This record gives sequence, C-alpha cells and structure tokens, in this order.
Amino acid sequence: MQTVMWFRRDLRIQDNKALYHAFNDLGAEDELVLLFQANPAQFLEDSPNHQAFFGSVQHFKGRIDEQAHLQIQYGEPLDLFAQLKETLPDWNKIYFNEDTTGFGAKRDKEAKKFFRQNGIEYFRFQDHYLHGAREIKNQQGDPYKVFTPYYNQWKERVKETPLKVRFQADSVHSKVLFPEDEKKFDKLVARLPKQTKIGEEAATRQLKKFVKNSVEKYEKARDIPILDETSHLSRYLRTGEVSIRTVWQALQEEKPSQGRNTFEKELCWRDFYNMIFTNHPRQQKQPIQAQFRFIKWENNQEKFEKWQEGKTGFPIVDAAMRQLKETGWMHNRLRMITASFLTKDLLIDWRWGERYFQQQLIDYDPASNIGGWQWAASTGTDAVPYFRVFNPTTQSEKFDPEGKFIKKYVKELGSLPEKLIHQPDKMTKEEQEEYSMILDQDYPSPIVNHKERRKRAISMYEASKEYAREVQAHEE
Ligand code: FAD
Repeated sequence: MQTVMWFRRDLRIQDNKALYHAFNDLGAEDELVLLFQANPAQFLEDSPNHQAFFGSVQHFKGRIDEQAHLQIQYGEPLDLFAQLKETLPDWNKIYFNEDTTGFGAKRDKEAKKFFRQNGIEYFRFQDHYLHGAREIKNQQGDPYKVFTPYYNQWKERVKETPLKVRFQADSVHSKVLFPEDEKKFDKLVARLPKQTKIGEEAATRQLKKFVKNSVEKYEKARDIPILDETSHLSRYLRTGEVSIRTVWQALQEEKPSQGRNTFEKELCWRDFYNMIFTNHPRQQKQPIQAQFRFIKWENNQEKFEKWQEGKTGFPIVDAAMRQLKETGWMHNRLRMITASFLTKDLLIDWRWGERYFQQQLIDYDPASNIGGWQWAASTGTDAVPYFRVFNPTTQSEKFDPEGKFIKKYVKELGSLPEKLIHQPDKMTKEEQEEYSMILDQDYPSPIVNHKERRKRAISMYEASKEYAREVQAHEE
C-alpha cells in the first residue's frame, strides 16, 4: 500500500507534523510517496513572491533527492490526484498540514472531497500556527474581534513542542513517477534568479542568530529600520522552512526579557490574523467593517505608480518602497507608513496596495498582508482609527531621525544634512545648490499635500459611514 505525504507550505523535514505522523503510521509493507504539486496557475514569473517560493521548493527537492525522492506533479490539484490514483491504484492514505484560509482552504476542501470519493483516508494537521484558527474563542464561544483579549488568552495556553522526525529513506518511494512533470518543473525553476539563504538549515541559522544577538534588544530596536534588528523569519515561516514551534522553543530557552515578550506578541499577531481571515473569508476583497464599504477612493494610476517606484517626494515612503523593490522585504514600521500613505494620502484603495505587496513580498502571507492592509486602511477589525492619520514626515523624524535609512535607499538624498533629509522640498535654492540636489530634477517635490489629504481622507471615511447608515436605515 502507498501513503502520500503532500507538501505545500511546509518545506521542511524537522517538526513537520504531517510528515512525522506519516512516517510513524507507516506499516512494514507500506511505502511513503513524498509529493509536491506545482500549479502553474499559481506562478507569475515576474513576481518576486513566487520566485522566492518556488526557489525554496527547488532547494527542498534538492535536499530530499539526496537521500530519497520528492515527486513533482505539474498542473491542477484535482487532475493531478486523479492521475496519481491511476498510477498508484493501491494508494489509500494521504497526510498534509491543513490550510484554513484563502486559496489553500478552497483547494483542501475540494481535495478532501476527492479523497472521500476515491476511498483515500486523509489525515490533516494544524501545523502552521501556535494556535489554530478555531482554538481560541471568547466566553460566548465566538471568535475574538479585538487583539488584546485574544492575546491574553493566547499567552496562557500551553504551546506544543517540536517533533523529531525520523526520516526513513528506505520507506520512501524513490522511483520517479512523473518524469515529464519533473522536466516541466525543472524548466520553470531554471529561469528563477539565484537565491541564497534559503532552506531549513539557513532558517535555523537565522533563528539562532536572532535569538542569540537580537531578541533582548528587540523591544527598543524593532521600530528603527536602519538597525535591522527584527528576525527576518517571515520568509521562512511563510514557506515552512522553519516551524513555528521551533521558533517558540528557541525563545523559551532564552532568559525572560521585555524583548522576548514583545517578540512573542508579534507571533500572536500572526495567529490572530490567520484566525480573522479564517472567519472572514471575503476579507481579501471586502473591508471587514461594513461602514467603510462605500469609500470613494480616488485611485489615481499615476500616483499609484509613483508610490510603487518610490518617487512620491516623501523620503521615508520612497526609501521603503525602494527597499521592497530591491530586496523583496520591507520593515514592519515601513509597511505601516507606506500602507497608510497609499490609503490616507494618495486615497488609493488598500486592495491595490495589497495586490502589489502580494506580488513583491518574498514573505507574502495572505492573512498577515490583508490584516496589515486593513489595519492601516482602518477598515479591518481592531484597526487604527480612521481619524488617526500617520504623518509621514513625523514618522520619518521619529523612526529614522538621522535619515540613515533614507540615504541607504534614496541615494540622490545622500548629501543632505539631518535637518533637511525628511523634507527636501523645504530647501532653498542656495541649499539645493550647496548639496547638489536640485528639486524636481534629482528628486521630486511631494506629489500631495499631507495636511490637505488628511482632511480629505477623514471626510471620505465619514461620508462612507454616513452612506452606510442610510443604507441600513433603508433596509430596516
Ligand atoms: P519580526 O519583527 O522579527 O517578527 C517576527 C514574526 O512575527 C514575523 O516573522 C511574523 O511572522 C510575525 N509578525 C510580526 N509582526 C506581525 C504583524 N503585524 N502581523 C502578523 N504577523 C506579524 N507579514 C508577513 O509575514 N507577510 C506579509 O505579507 C505581511 N504583510 C504586511 C503588510 C502590511 C501593510 C503590514 C503593516 C504588515 C505586514 N506583515 C506581513 C507583518 C510584518 O510587517 C512582517 O511580519 C514583518 O515585518 C516580517 O519581518 P520579520 O520576520 O523580521 O519580523
């Protein structure tokens, strides 16, 4: 008999719950088929997000193939499972780590139906989060809407410890099942840009480095982009190259500190947003708060492109957007600033920004990205209030006081002193000449006036609230 281990965004061997149980439950005569399905519909060639993910798949395959074989199928999941059943008529069990949100949830639902119809027993596991989407509820048994009470319960809950997987290469089916599909996959990944620091070992090294050097400082340093003291674990959590339980355990082995507490709280945000997306499956397309479904966004294409390119004339925004373009990652404080700027200063629909981040981020995670965008746009649950609009200049002075981060990415501002770096448009003609930085030639003037746009944004939100009230009154 054959059992299948279906890998998806859990590209690791150690502490992989489904893999652990698949090996453990394997009978003496059974063999385990390790499987990854590459779905071309999910691959955009020019998306750094997809390039990073498939790069990790390729790396993982290389590692497994050293001792056994990771089978690759290429196409739509349901067709592929039908093909697999035809190829392996004795296949009777499948193991996987489940998804409860977005595309993954839909795919899992359809796959489970297929398994039931074809007499394949399935075993699914909550592997990706410290606490799964349905674990933590309020006293009425409903999901939480606000973070703090969720967190208060979350932190009291016992966390699972990592599982040690005994990889039994002898039990793995190592003859290639779909050579044509593997060729297609090879062709696809051959076009990917070369990546370093990927895979389970790199993820473990990154975790150790962070816990040893930075976790204690995290409380104070995490908000200052130039210090770069956050963990950079997001891309590994996203691909599953490190397990969340391993991260948790590494933290528990450190001495308690405010930094450690704050970091643990960030991991809780990850669980929280997964829980929110599970309970609001339409969240990617629709604001959670019904009162903000009628905002009349300006959606100016030219301004949107300037934001994407980092040419808005607001140095901190531009530096952040260029960091994203150059590295595929952006510091959390800057994600908040740029998302707030897009929605409240440029008055562009947060869904445009969400889609752009989706394409660009190598750590793209739908629940956290949508959660972050709805937070910044004030449309989500427990979001920043719509009338508290970030001032990009004040944010810049506070979180990049000397302008070092700005200078790292906006090279044309490199010669400016501290007092001018946050607002180059305030430079006199003489200063522009002195620092060889001519406004609108070397660097643009601000594309909007923050004070005016702030007022406009607030009135747009209020108009939506008003309209929503009218609609509701009409319906009653
Ligand atoms: P650290 O500060 O070291 O945090 C450790 C881990 O905690 C992160 O890896 C992440 O898993 C989790 N975490 C931290 N902050 C948050 C948060 N606010 N929400 C949820 N989880 C968090 N995170 C993503 O992983 N993918 C995304 O696509 C994503 N999009 C975002 C979009 C916006 C508009 C905003 C405001 C935030 C977004 N975040 C996203 C959350 C956060 O910015 C990143 O998790 C963080 O910057 C990743 O860097 P790090 O691993 O060094 O973080």
